[in-house]
Amino acid sequence: MPTNTFAPASVLPNIKGWNGLGKKSSVAVIGAGAFGGWTALWLRRAGFDVTMYDAWGPGNSRSSSGDETRVIRSTYGANEFYFDLNVRALQLWKEHQQKWGRQVFFNSGVLWMCYGDKTPVVDDSLPFARKHKMEYERLSVGELAAKYPAINTSDLHHGWLDTFGGYLKARESTQLVTDTFVREGGKFVQTHVDPGATGQRPKTSDGTSVDAHLYIYACGSWLGGLFPQVLGNVITCSKQEVYYFGTPAGQSKLYDDMPVWVDADGNDYYYGIPGNASRGFKIGVDRRGKPFDPTTGERAPEPEVLAHARHFIGHRFPGLTNAPVVESRVCPYENSPDGNFIFQQHPEAHNVFFIGGGSGHGFKHGPAWGEMVAGRLVG
Ligand SMILES: Cc1cc2nc3c(=O)[nH]c(=O)nc-3n(C[C@H](O)[C@H](O)[C@H](O)COP(=O)(O)OP(=O)(O)OC[C@H]3O[C@@H](n4cnc5c(N)ncnc54)[C@H](O)[C@@H]3O)c2cc1C
Repeated sequence: MPTNTFAPASVLPNIKGWNGLGKKSSVAVIGAGAFGGWTALWLRRAGFDVTMYDAWGPGNSRSSSGDETRVIRSTYGANEFYFDLNVRALQLWKEHQQKWGRQVFFNSGVLWMCYGDKTPVVDDSLPFARKHKMEYERLSVGELAAKYPAINTSDLHHGWLDTFGGYLKARESTQLVTDTFVREGGKFVQTHVDPGATGQRPKTSDGTSVDAHLYIYACGSWLGGLFPQVLGNVITCSKQEVYYFGTPAGQSKLYDDMPVWVDADGNDYYYGIPGNASRGFKIGVDRRGKPFDPTTGERAPEPEVLAHARHFIGHRFPGLTNAPVVESRVCPYENSPDGNFIFQQHPEAHNVFFIGGGSGHGFKHGPAWGEMVAGRLVG
């Protein structure tokens, strides 16, 4: 997770040979995940002729946006850019769920469990929280234990509760974004797109040319493989696992009513989504897994990663020591070198752009990041 490395100027680069879109311009967005879907929607709303392509469909099981749920939290250490981006995203998620008439944002709160007096990833965000009138509540270890009896607090120093965060339904909202895009006049085509050599027109899987004034590749973990010369060393894919543990019969509310939690100072950076839309007590780990091929990779968990997760959960939530795994997911992280998002122009094709590098934290930002990228491309 990036905390201090982000330089906002580098995110909206000076774009060479690109003067923005003309009134009747056509746009091809390749990839209907969180980044492609929202960018396509904003470009469509700006009046352009937008077609979006996806090889397996929005929120498919291979994509990073295809898991059931994703955490939404503003905390990014001293990195104000992501804090602000999340504030805007939160507003857009709320507006859109109202429009959809479907709840996709669950305001369960986010609890940061801190081991010592200082936890920079949270402490450094406190001034931003104050500025936005989104202040966190500090809980002593006694208050933590009283409020959340399922947690073993013996090695904790205090907690911070961000009452504004929570979790999003990921797969469902990704599909809703594509539905909205189509309803608002965009075109969606389910096909693989082969970018071909630089200067050639990309082709769909039946050999049809993709003709557009502007091409945006939002292909998540596939970007490095699709553009090996440009992005091969920039975007790498790792195998990440999440487990959904079953809570004891008769005690599901004890766990489901908890906020999203983050074990802030632990070695592996475990986090979890307790209610998780009734799928189970979800736990994930932010430590980077093995290199992974997002198309051919088998989606079976690694026994040693599961064993670590079990060990952690038994320690932090003793009531779940022998809890069964009721579901699991293998999702790819589309890692950038420093965890920051990427918005980049092809060095040899002025009308080809890449957006990606969500690096395990991109989903929540989709609406705001798409809005920002679309705004820059429109000029
Ligand atoms: C385990 C895990 C936990 C995470 N937790 C969080 C979290 O709690 N909060 C958060 O905000 N973020 C989280 N993330 C990160 C977040 O899910 C991603 O950053 C985000 O979903 C990336 O979206 P994307 O659109 O870039 O990629 P994707 O969702 O992968 O979408 C890319 C799309 O491109 C399509 N595609 C690829 N190649 C082609 C081609 N040649 N032709 C046509 N289509 C193509 C694919 O089918 C896919 O649908 C997590 C990620 C993982 C894996």
